[in-house]
Amino acid sequence: MIKVFLVLVFWAISLSASTLHVENWAKGETFLTFLEKNKLPLDIYYNLDREEQELATEIMSGIKYQILKNEDDVIEQVMIPIGEELQLHLIKDGDNYNLTTTPISFQEEKLIVTIEIKHSPYQDIINETNNYLLAHEFIQAFKNSVNFKRLRKGDRVVIFYTKRTRLGRQFGSPKIEASMVEVRGRKNYVFSYNKGRFYDSKGKEVEGFFLAKPVNYYRVSSKFTYKRWHPILKRYRAHLGIDYAARRGAPIKAAGNGKIIQLGRKGGYGKTITIRHDNGYKTLYAHMKGYKKGMKCGKWVKKGQTIGYVGSTGISTGPHLHFGLYKNNRAINPNSVVKVTKSKLSGKKRKEFFTYIKQYKEKIEVALNDYKNPTKEKSFDYIVSLDSIKETIQ
Ligand SMILES: [Zn+2]
Repeated sequence: MIKVFLVLVFWAISLSASTLHVENWAKGETFLTFLEKNKLPLDIYYNLDREEQELATEIMSGIKYQILKNEDDVIEQVMIPIGEELQLHLIKDGDNYNLTTTPISFQEEKLIVTIEIKHSPYQDIINETNNYLLAHEFIQAFKNSVNFKRLRKGDRVVIFYTKRTRLGRQFGSPKIEASMVEVRGRKNYVFSYNKGRFYDSKGKEVEGFFLAKPVNYYRVSSKFTYKRWHPILKRYRAHLGIDYAARRGAPIKAAGNGKIIQLGRKGGYGKTITIRHDNGYKTLYAHMKGYKKGMKCGKWVKKGQTIGYVGSTGISTGPHLHFGLYKNNRAINPNSVVKVTKSKLSGKKRKEFFTYIKQYKEKIEVALNDYKNPTKEKSFDYIVSLDSIKETIQ
């Protein structure tokens, strides 16, 4: 009993001594300027290897991070999320600091919501669930195959989705598994299949974002991964893009139509261009030797247009293009969208698809007749501030 009491006392003392601050990563802030600003040793950054410096460059403006300070205002720990899976974790160790990457822990829950249209699907989903991101995902999934203006009052919507929760709050974007929307009583479906792409009930892909290959390459020198355990380094690693090994000076082409929103040096990525496309997508081109003449922030570029040349600026071992793809500010695997045309499932895959969607169609019928919607979301833990998510929708 005494032991428990002592533990509690120590716990209380340590709590009172340290304070936790939650802050937003400012626009233009880099990991290096962050260390400088907080008078932390800059070696923390310079001692990182190539892949880790790239990761440190992935910290997004608007992201929420946590700082634990002691009573003397000395930083004891910092936790900065990179995407939805990993975080940089800085821990004070005597006079030094150790930097590691730790997985962000979360729970996943599968939910179903059924809604009758009163105003608009977007507004009604928010009214029913208080889940802004779910409404956003829903609109994106259907926007190329359904004309929302034709919907009438009384049309219905069913959404099967997976939600992540962290410390009791919704965390990150929900993922739609299957959904149905009636347009004047006629049912339209989307199903997430084949690495999270959306297909209609005939097996035709409906979400229209297709990228061109950004460079002619010899080989892929590093694949995309959210999180993998490195058994020798004994820590988690991630690579939020694809590295294409290519000839120095080879032209880099815009993977899609869009507007250049960033051009310049970007930490471990060296000379970098970021392009914003429709539907909340962004592409990033790093380690460039140089930019094509005339490229600047605010310029609109066409799919296939040369924007720069392959090099090895930043932390890079040889000439290659690091190519990143982001949807709503979340890094996704470019392999899922780099292709020429919309895909239509055929042969065995098509057969498997129909078996797969049959169960969902049956469940949707059940959900239309007898449903109990999940309780409304009370609080969110947005990975990126709501403002920067809204920015990508416009
Ligand atoms: Zn890379």
